[in-house]
Amino acid sequence: MTDLHRLSIRELSEGLKQAQFSSRELTEHYLKRIAHIDPKVKSYVTVTAEQALAEADAADAVLKSGNAHALAGIPLAHKDIFCTQGIKTTAGSKMLDNFISPYDATVVAKAKAAGLVTLGKVNMDEFAMGSTSENSYFGATSNPWALDRVPGGSSGGSAAAVAADLAPIATGTDTGGSIRQPASFCGLTGLKPTYGRVSRFGMIAYASSLDQGGPMARSAEDCAYLMNVIAGHDAKDSTSINKEVDDYVANLNGTAVKGLRIGIPKQYFNVAGLDADVKARVEESLKKLEEMGATLVEIDLNMTEAYVPTYYLIAPAEASSNLSRYDGVRYGYRCDNPKDILDLYKRSRSEGFGAEVQRRILIGTYALSAGYYDAYYVKAQKVRRLIQQDFLKAFENVDVIAAPSAPTTAYKIGANLSPTEMYLGDIYTLAVNLAGLPAINAPVGFDQDSLPVGLQLIGNYWSESQLLSIVHQYQQHTDWHTKRAAIAEENA
Ligand code: GLN
Repeated sequence: MTDLHRLSIRELSEGLKQAQFSSRELTEHYLKRIAHIDPKVKSYVTVTAEQALAEADAADAVLKSGNAHALAGIPLAHKDIFCTQGIKTTAGSKMLDNFISPYDATVVAKAKAAGLVTLGKVNMDEFAMGSTSENSYFGATSNPWALDRVPGGSSGGSAAAVAADLAPIATGTDTGGSIRQPASFCGLTGLKPTYGRVSRFGMIAYASSLDQGGPMARSAEDCAYLMNVIAGHDAKDSTSINKEVDDYVANLNGTAVKGLRIGIPKQYFNVAGLDADVKARVEESLKKLEEMGATLVEIDLNMTEAYVPTYYLIAPAEASSNLSRYDGVRYGYRCDNPKDILDLYKRSRSEGFGAEVQRRILIGTYALSAGYYDAYYVKAQKVRRLIQQDFLKAFENVDVIAAPSAPTTAYKIGANLSPTEMYLGDIYTLAVNLAGLPAINAPVGFDQDSLPVGLQLIGNYWSESQLLSIVHQYQQHTDWHTKRAAIAEENA
């Protein structure tokens, strides 16, 4: 079969169960595609071919026994931020270029336990800091829709791999938009769960109070399948919540779109940098939801102007603390011939970290330093609370809130925006993390350059089922999520 990569997760699951093809055949099919097509996309940092085939054979044996999990034998790619025992985990950094974790992240362990086959580890902005994946030590990844464009970031490798059909699904992480924005730039569906829904254990920390892992795939249905595997309480992550997990697949038609109240924040559609095509496509998608029975309700989110400064204070503050562990002593990069211990710290860190990571460590350390702590960090925490309250107030009157995922479509590789220009591109995604809410991106069409545009739906806490269900039903009425980039149509 030459078109296995065109099947949805449900179709793959059924095909494997009915022995129409084996996991080995499916895995070999993807490995062949990666070998032929990924040199143009550069989504993988590490391809684990041998291990993948061994996992596929093991999955085939379980499939024969008739007792297999729904996803047994289906390949996936992990963002290179999830620790994988025995396989390099780099977080896109020179600092961890040779780091091999002695344990699996909980997300990885759960995927393995379900019988998913790991194809490899995919590229990302260094320590998940960025919006283009260009901040990777391993170089830029291309957007499958236009190879001279970025796939977004920081989970750009995950998005590019799925959009080029080099993996049927992938894991990503989202601290300030890193699942939703690359999903938007690459025409995919991506879900950022409620903070605490997916374990952070073994997920290399950027900003711990904001980081959350989630699925990236072609459709809400595909995302639901992966959520069923990775969601849940984990005693190894003290911020993971002990709350019953929904059956996201069973709930795909569980939310009525008829009568659904969708909040449209006034402030969001008047943002200066909002591209006209993005605005138009998002409005068309909302009109479609209206046709399906939803009601659009204008709402106020008065704290919109505070999103970027608040996030870019809190996230670097937490990063400066989290990244202090990379000291050249215990593991990770160490400079050559250190003169003394201070020289070892200084040179290991200045040689091991890239420019954006250093910028954020400096900002964060400054904001946390004595004398500035109250003026910056404490103040930002107070504003964070106001942002959360703004959402909770809105949810008294609406079921979900609609927004673009990003003000623009994918940037050109090497566009070299200034840090502040880059940060302003995160306007629509940051507040969701500051408030700990779930949100989803769904593809809703293309701009005049044929680049994908994404709609973001933000839900109240624990509304993952609802978000997936709304997008699933939208996807039953539209075909944007079935569109494929030319490179994905290539056969290996
Ligand atoms: N683009 C944002 C940043 O640079 C978000 C990154 C993320 O979610 N990891 O911090």
